[in-house]
Amino acid sequence: MRGFGMHSVGDVGWIEKDRPQCGPLDAIVRPTLIAPCSSDTHVSHGGSGPHSELILGHEAVGLVEEVGPLVQTVKPGDLVAVPCVTPDWLVGGVQNHKTFSHDVGPFGSFKLVGSKDGVMAEFFHVNQADANLAVIPAGVSPEAALMTVDMASTGFYGAEMAEVALGDTVVVIGIGPVGLMALTGAILRGAARVIAVGTRPQAAAVAREYGASQIISYKDGPIDAQVLELTGGVDKVILAGGGPEAFVQALNMLKSGGTLANVNFFDAAASLTFPALSWGLGMADKDIRGGFCPGGKIRIERLMALIEYGRFDPTKIISHHFHGFDALPEAFDLMDRKAPDLIKPIVYLG
Ligand code: NDP
Ligand code: ZN
Repeated sequence: MRGFGMHSVGDVGWIEKDRPQCGPLDAIVRPTLIAPCSSDTHVSHGGSGPHSELILGHEAVGLVEEVGPLVQTVKPGDLVAVPCVTPDWLVGGVQNHKTFSHDVGPFGSFKLVGSKDGVMAEFFHVNQADANLAVIPAGVSPEAALMTVDMASTGFYGAEMAEVALGDTVVVIGIGPVGLMALTGAILRGAARVIAVGTRPQAAAVAREYGASQIISYKDGPIDAQVLELTGGVDKVILAGGGPEAFVQALNMLKSGGTLANVNFFDAAASLTFPALSWGLGMADKDIRGGFCPGGKIRIERLMALIEYGRFDPTKIISHHFHGFDALPEAFDLMDRKAPDLIKPIVYLG
């Protein structure tokens, strides 16, 4: 079968491979709609090590092609949303920890692209289909379902880790697709004032549509000073963009008792250091949390229920539509270059 991926670090292209084998609990899925992600481009540049001949992509909706003999709840022909994080639900890591994202070790549950071929192929493998595939309900479009598998799951996790409460003032740093979903999650949880940080005009327009009260630019000076001048300190900050400097700025803008929730990937070579004063001399009850996209079927079913009952519409973050398998390189390149009008591209394969 044909797939699009990385031959080696920095070298992407078409890859020929055998179709993956289906284990007794597993499924083989034929993707009908996929979305390239900043995490794919990060991997292609060596961000998770020196992979070779690895098919990329971890965000997909597709048709179940084959299931193993022990699978009970999905069958060939079902249209499913595939969580980008597909834990091995049988291992101790999942049973012991409050998060399911790190089954056999850090990021262990991120299997598509993380430890096996991804979804930008004619077929891909999903472990433990009963626990890792969510059948798409009639009231949810494939495009909306696709946006739940990573973007909404990750962005909302930022709002959940921050424990956004009724009436909170929240800053969301970053208005890429993840930040826009974090903003939406914060508003769904009852935030009052939400200040978003970013500059891309198309993304800023969507942030306003999703309910941002105000948008500030990191190009207009330090964002901690801007936020402190506007608010005097905020209850929650969700970090979905910017580097280590933004992390320190996020701490600085928090009130005592506030929470910083991070969903950013920091570079392995980066250090997160901050002055004691930023953390209230260690005594200001400022929580620092960071987490990785939660996975599994029930997570995605719950996000799709929010869409089905009209609570949010994630399709506003889709900025570019591509058609056909041969369009994968162009869509990937757009994601890699981060064109100024880009939020999230999708590619119709079916
Ligand atoms: P984007 O690159 O699309 O968006 C990043 C945002 O951060 C943009 O709005 C950008 O502004 C803003 N930004 C850039 N520099 C700064 C700065 N110095 N200060 C403040 N804001 C800044 O990223 P994504 O939305 O795709 O992803 C966001 C983060 O989430 C990334 O770190 C990504 O790796 C991570 N991620 C995590 C996942 C997880 O499971 N935990 C899954 C997917 C992504 P501008 O508008 O000017 O471009
Ligand atoms: Zn992704």
